[in-house]
Amino acid sequence: MTIIKNKYRTHSCAELNEQAVGETVTLSGWIHKMRDHGGLIFVDLRDYYGITQVVFDASVSDDLKKIEENRVESVITIEGEVVARTEETINPDLSTGKIEVAAKSFKVLSNADVLPILVASDEKFGEDLRLKYRYIDLRREKLKKNIQMRMDVFKEIRSIMNGKGFNEIQTPVLTASSPEGARDFLVPSRVHHGKFYALPQSPQIFKELSMVAGFDRYFQLAPCFRDEDLRSDRLLEFYQLDMEMSFVEREDVMETMQDNMMKVFNKFKGDKIIDENIPHITYQEAMETYGIDRPDLRNPLVIKEVGEVFAGSDFGLFASLVAKGNSVKAVRTPGTAGQPRSWYDKLNDWARSEGAGGLGYIVFNEDGTTKGPIAKNLDEARINQIREICGVENGDSVFFCCDKLEEAQKFAGKVRTKLGTDLELINKNEFKFCWVIDFPFFEKHEETGELAMGHNPFSQPRGGMEALNNAENPFDILSEQYDFICNGYELGGGSIRHETLDTLVKCFDMVGYGEEVVKEKFGSMYDAYHYGVPPHGGIAMGMERIIMLLCDEPNLREVVPFPANGKGQDTMMGSPSEVSEQQLREAHIKVRPTIK
Ligand code: ASP
Repeated sequence: MTIIKNKYRTHSCAELNEQAVGETVTLSGWIHKMRDHGGLIFVDLRDYYGITQVVFDASVSDDLKKIEENRVESVITIEGEVVARTEETINPDLSTGKIEVAAKSFKVLSNADVLPILVASDEKFGEDLRLKYRYIDLRREKLKKNIQMRMDVFKEIRSIMNGKGFNEIQTPVLTASSPEGARDFLVPSRVHHGKFYALPQSPQIFKELSMVAGFDRYFQLAPCFRDEDLRSDRLLEFYQLDMEMSFVEREDVMETMQDNMMKVFNKFKGDKIIDENIPHITYQEAMETYGIDRPDLRNPLVIKEVGEVFAGSDFGLFASLVAKGNSVKAVRTPGTAGQPRSWYDKLNDWARSEGAGGLGYIVFNEDGTTKGPIAKNLDEARINQIREICGVENGDSVFFCCDKLEEAQKFAGKVRTKLGTDLELINKNEFKFCWVIDFPFFEKHEETGELAMGHNPFSQPRGGMEALNNAENPFDILSEQYDFICNGYELGGGSIRHETLDTLVKCFDMVGYGEEVVKEKFGSMYDAYHYGVPPHGGIAMGMERIIMLLCDEPNLREVVPFPANGKGQDTMMGSPSEVSEQQLREAHIKVRPTIK
């Protein structure tokens, strides 16, 4: 980086080395640290690029001694001479560690008060304070590195996408509702009384319309807004690497995005390892084997169905539940037979705290015998069946969950994660990816159990119109949707879209909505289908999730420069905030009292 030379600086604080010895230089920055060594005052001067040590010799002039009157984080400009450090005082950790600057004069540009957050320190500060003074927090090394990573990843993605011939198209932020399944943020219109804009949950419709417009390959690093309940892996506003392509099939989109992701992860992975073997797992397989549709493949534990083993057995509880059509899921943990009884009891307590009846288990001792309440009630043939299905070796334990199929799968998924984590089976130094494909197109309505639209209404059913017309059971119809998963996080998802209006209308018809609903919900797309729509598909990746994984952070807010807090408030800017009566009037809004 070459800086602009002017009255503030001739060099950055990262730039000077032994070749500059003897030069007179001007540097500007923040006082990072200050130490007084009996008349010699050492200042670590910091700018965005690095740190240079500046020495103020009080014996040279009283003016130089006055540097001591300034607090750390004050902004100063210094002029001085570059001096080589003696062998013992070289600092190999600094790019400028072989020299220091002997100050001749300095000027204070801006004074710092006592700081609410220390910059040159590893001390931990509460999130409230860090967010209120984000501009100070951003000076600290760790957060600054995260944001630098963010900027680098954004830059890299733009370069990859441009290199592949994708057009970056900006789409509106003040728009109509796009149905991604979350609540919209609304913006009242001043001009159009009683009408509202919605902030985009994603640019979905616009990117599809860009394909209809003929742009062939679209991408955008797009801001998205979703008024959802917050969690550590959710933000109200976030960025997507949004992409759409024309004349493509599912595999084309998947391969293009996988290649993008491999490029980005390989470039920024640091000392982590990447497993480039990326399986395609069907939704059904994911639920059966991992109990979740975004499996963490770093966890080697798998789930097996063992309902048949318990059918008609003497273990009455499971036997009667299986007779009523329930499932029994089993998770084997290798080499745990030596664990004390208390370990199993604690897991049982955990299962109860998760709302399960408990967590049954069998211990397969090293000597070939078995232990535990379930084992006592199973004959040897059944025990052997479990050994076979679960691949048990002596010294293992197997845990069981019995419930209706979906509940049993989901709970076994939690058990798998809990055991994998507790037993430290997950390699934290690895990135493991997979695709989940073949999602069911329709869902069961939560209350009525009837056919309902799946969560991606833009997706085309696999097999198109024929599948919709001829499926024996509509719940068996699959969707052209795909999700990309890394270490148990859904990095993104997308789909091949409806090729014709007919399938879109038919899907809505099947869940009980007429064509007028399609017109109302997807008005622009509905119209567009009458004027030549190329087959198209796309995907969107959550940028913050990618960066969070690359920075090894557990919380998305750690990779956002100016995030709102966990309750969606920005305490630094004071948002959301009340507005004046005048503003409300102009927006034709009246605030209602809260109803408790
Ligand atoms: N718009 C979708 C989403 O935000 C992604 C896609 O289907 O391309 O999840």
